[in-house]
Amino acid sequence: MKKVVKFGGSSLASANQFKKVGDIIRADETRRYVVPSAPGKRFNEDTKVTDMLYACYALAEDGKDITDSLHKIKERYNEIIKGLDLDLSLDDEFETIREQFEAKAGSDYAASRGEYLNGIIMAEYLGYEFVDAATVIFFDEEGNFDAEKTQEVLSAKLANIERAVVPGFYGAYANGKVKTFSRGGSDVTGSIVAKAVKANLYENWTDVSGFLVADPRIIHNPQVINTITYKELRELAYMGASVLHEDAIFPVRKEGIPINIKNTNRPDDEGTMIVESTCRQSAYTITGIAGKKGFVAINIEKDMMNSEVGFGRKVLEAFEKHGISFEHVPSGIDTMTVFVHQPEFEGKEQLVLSDIHRLSSPDTIEIETDLALIAVVGRGMKAVKGTAARIFAALSHANINIKMIDQGSSELNIIIGVKNADFEKAIKAIYDIFVETQL
Ligand code: ASP
Repeated sequence: MKKVVKFGGSSLASANQFKKVGDIIRADETRRYVVPSAPGKRFNEDTKVTDMLYACYALAEDGKDITDSLHKIKERYNEIIKGLDLDLSLDDEFETIREQFEAKAGSDYAASRGEYLNGIIMAEYLGYEFVDAATVIFFDEEGNFDAEKTQEVLSAKLANIERAVVPGFYGAYANGKVKTFSRGGSDVTGSIVAKAVKANLYENWTDVSGFLVADPRIIHNPQVINTITYKELRELAYMGASVLHEDAIFPVRKEGIPINIKNTNRPDDEGTMIVESTCRQSAYTITGIAGKKGFVAINIEKDMMNSEVGFGRKVLEAFEKHGISFEHVPSGIDTMTVFVHQPEFEGKEQLVLSDIHRLSSPDTIEIETDLALIAVVGRGMKAVKGTAARIFAALSHANINIKMIDQGSSELNIIIGVKNADFEKAIKAIYDIFVETQL
């Protein structure tokens, strides 16, 4: 049995948090590979070390003095080292960092030092071997993650190490230049390490007890999702639910390694299991609700559209030409609607409209703005009748006008379009009918 454990920034923000993490790791000897983030916020108004590093590097790039700024970062680490009673000095590391900043080594290098230094402390604290991610995680020349090379080098390296710390968030190009993943990317590193060591489980430790059925900013104290499939998670994450980095599921998903989201501050909570497939039914038919505001619907009408082969392609070409990706395309007999993100579309609207005219000669085009999309996701919907009916009844009782309905044939989710102004009210109504009334 082998587990990879990734700890987020809030789990490693102070010596006290480090101690909780140490207890968690020592409580289970199969927790052999540890992926730390950089120290996060200790309190609400605090600044994450990653953000401090970006800011410090920006000074260096402007040719300004970075002494104070770098000193504050060093203090964050020294506080942790002292609180853990470690015999460790980062003086030499900070000397190198200063030199590299002054030599303008790049903002990726700068940001990566947050994880790098935390990894050194973590390895010292646990007595695990430190493996610099720049030597085992690779990016190709275009800056894309090089899965093949990474798998080869990382799995060979870790095969010979019983217990290791691999800092999250970064890797390197073939020439050794450091490159980071996008923000929150330590989740991705954890997943890559889990794949490389063929872990039985990837534990992702954070500051919440798992994925919530709905956004806690909209629903007071929502229920935790006990088990969710990768596919459901992808739908919810795409629609704005965030706990785990969007790309983190891909490496483990291919290997069938489950992810367990756990809470460092409440280690006994079960958290959420993310799995490929499961017999476990969701307690509420639906697994989760997520959504986003800020969409535009472009309604295109043309008589006899149904018999014109290639019409849809021509319309979509107009969007493609301007680099706009579409979100949904519900269609009728003589109508087709394209949903796109409003901010992406606004600056280019007239160009896109004239291209639609030129390419597909529609009768009319109408634009409707300020729409929100809500995804009601659940593997359980397939086996249960009346799910859509319950959603629509709930929205109708809440006096909400539905602008669009889209259910994929996989029956994994139902997507509903409403006005931005109805967004929160709609989520509450759906949550109430499926969850609140079942409690
Ligand atoms: N420290 C990085 C960030 O703040 C990466 C991470 O925490 O996963 O985005």
